[in-house]
Amino acid sequence: MNKLFLFILFGLSLSLDAQNWQTFYEQSEYKKTPSYAETIDFCNRLASTSPLATMINLGNSPQDREIPMMVIDRDGLTSPEAIRAKGRVIVLIEAGIHPGEPDGKDAMLMLLRDMLINRQRKELLEKTSILFIPILNVDGHERFGPYNRINQNGPEEMGWRTNALNLNLNRDFMKADALEMQYWLTMFSAWLPDFFIDIHTTDGADYQYSLTYAIETFGNLDSGITRWLENIYEPRITKEMKSSGFPIFPYVQFRNWHDPRSGLRTGASPPMISQGYAAIQNRPGLLIETHMLKDYKTRVDATFQMVKHTLFILNHQAETLKTLVEMADKSTAAPGFRTQELAVNWETSTTDSTMIDFEGFDYKSIKSDLTGGDWFIYDNTKPLTMKLPFFNKSIPSAKIKLPQAYIIPAEWQNVIERMKLHGIKMDVLTEALELKVGSYKFRDYEFRKLPNEGRHMVNTGLEEIEETRLFPKGSAIIYTNQRTAKVIAGILEPAATGSYVEWGFFNAVFEQKEYSESYVMETMAREMLAKDPQLKKEFEQKKMDDPEFAKSQRNMLNWFYSKTPYWDQEFLKYPVGKINDASTLSQIRKISVSIDSIENRSDGLYYRE
Ligand SMILES: [Zn+2]
Repeated sequence: MNKLFLFILFGLSLSLDAQNWQTFYEQSEYKKTPSYAETIDFCNRLASTSPLATMINLGNSPQDREIPMMVIDRDGLTSPEAIRAKGRVIVLIEAGIHPGEPDGKDAMLMLLRDMLINRQRKELLEKTSILFIPILNVDGHERFGPYNRINQNGPEEMGWRTNALNLNLNRDFMKADALEMQYWLTMFSAWLPDFFIDIHTTDGADYQYSLTYAIETFGNLDSGITRWLENIYEPRITKEMKSSGFPIFPYVQFRNWHDPRSGLRTGASPPMISQGYAAIQNRPGLLIETHMLKDYKTRVDATFQMVKHTLFILNHQAETLKTLVEMADKSTAAPGFRTQELAVNWETSTTDSTMIDFEGFDYKSIKSDLTGGDWFIYDNTKPLTMKLPFFNKSIPSAKIKLPQAYIIPAEWQNVIERMKLHGIKMDVLTEALELKVGSYKFRDYEFRKLPNEGRHMVNTGLEEIEETRLFPKGSAIIYTNQRTAKVIAGILEPAATGSYVEWGFFNAVFEQKEYSESYVMETMAREMLAKDPQLKKEFEQKKMDDPEFAKSQRNMLNWFYSKTPYWDQEFLKYPVGKINDASTLSQIRKISVSIDSIENRSDGLYYRE
């Protein structure tokens, strides 16, 4: 082979190679986002070319697509233990939980190509290792088309918001109904990333910012991490983004929809949402929301800069962040954490605000002659700095006191199984045990009319009760002296926003399953009244207090039924018990084992034979 030929071949392969590493998005002149197959192919090529990157399958989706995650570490390490041993922080970067908002996917493919193939930005991997999920909702991503986001300016085609079962994965972090979320939680519990970035595109009003962000500094995240976010991360990222040409602002809503002059509002996110979930796992979660009306290239560029600068800050702050995260986990598991009240629901203060400058657009509101409603017309040729009240203080709207332990009866396996996904440690009873426990009785409850995320949600009042219950063999004991104590309370305390009671896991408890026949009860009620003059008084009082009751034969007879020994004592009682008593706890310890120890046994001693 002559040298000239070799030279041509070499030159050709170089130019092919250079072109090869252009992302689909770049090749489309920043107008298109790649399909699932093209995205994963690019990630696989990165991983097979660079010794720093490894692909892991989190699991297969309901439509049987792999959900890959790329692990990027300067030494090519692939396990959390090995990476932590090197003292690095682990940053989870997630795109495509809402595949109609693919900005994070396209930004990250370019950033990773620069880092892994072009060997640029080495400083970003010095003290951090990256977990990158290019598309979490892989099935939704393949419901691909130009009409999936009516408010959004590009890309030309994109995926759909929900998964194949029409579930929004960004409402599923606690209840974990979606298979995709079950894999995600398993991954999260194993890796416990020190910082989590979840990338979206917003809906809402028009304003100048290409990118807004949310991070939980409202009291729902550990105070040490919160102070670090407020004093270090937020000022630095705000400054860096401004000097990169993308001024940022917290992700806000207007107090009156679409009307900036009404003031701005933000607050603690519930744990069903990514950054709210990270907070109760003692981890900072950054929500990136690019602005829907900016063109796709501007949005991807802003995301690229936001992730790049965040990684830069995290590399500089690696030791501090690592220490703070460890301290947060320790203090959550420590005895002192159980002596204070824990907020499990938050609302934004309507009185406490500060004045800020907001970079909006001039607009007017006219009465629509079509609908009669207010029509906001923004003029994006007229930038306008508005001085506005910013309501950004959250106040607890429900508080609880953590017990030493919760006990879940064995028959509520679906709850027990879901809790394991969150990395919650538990023991199980090896024989039945009668215990005095605290619990709740539901009252004044109301079911929502329409389903939400495929569930029939309930809002209920609670009455504290204490009673002796028989817990069967296999019941789960969940001690609260573990790092996941806030997750445990968020799931098991019915007053917590997004608790399993609210999501409807316990709906069967709200159903009365035995009834009296009216002619039987008419007779029995008379006998009861004759025997008990006090009952007569109670009955008359009840009729006076509740006119609806007084009109309903059925309700009145059911009331008498509830006073008989035939009444179902379990009706409207929360099956989960709370234990605080030291002697009860030592009694439990004698006849319980760790669930890990029995699940790994093959000798038939597993409690569910
Ligand atoms: Zn979104």
